[in-house]
Amino acid sequence: MSARFACDRWMMPKTRRKADLPVKTCATCGRPFTWRKKWAKVWDEVRYCSERCRRERKPAGQSA
Ligand SMILES: [Zn+2]
Repeated sequence: MSARFACDRWMMPKTRRKADLPVKTCATCGRPFTWRKKWAKVWDEVRYCSERCRRERKPAGQSA
């Protein structure tokens, strides 16, 4: 009977491949960043790797 528990542990999927996650390039620092859970709903709109880069972005719409 104890053999069954051992089998269940063995079958646990442990490996997650990061390569499966989508990757984008930050518009501010130019570094690639990987999909995050918090971006699940807004991934199409995400353009920056972090809040910091998002704020450092140059203001658009103004003729500099
Ligand atoms: Zn960035």
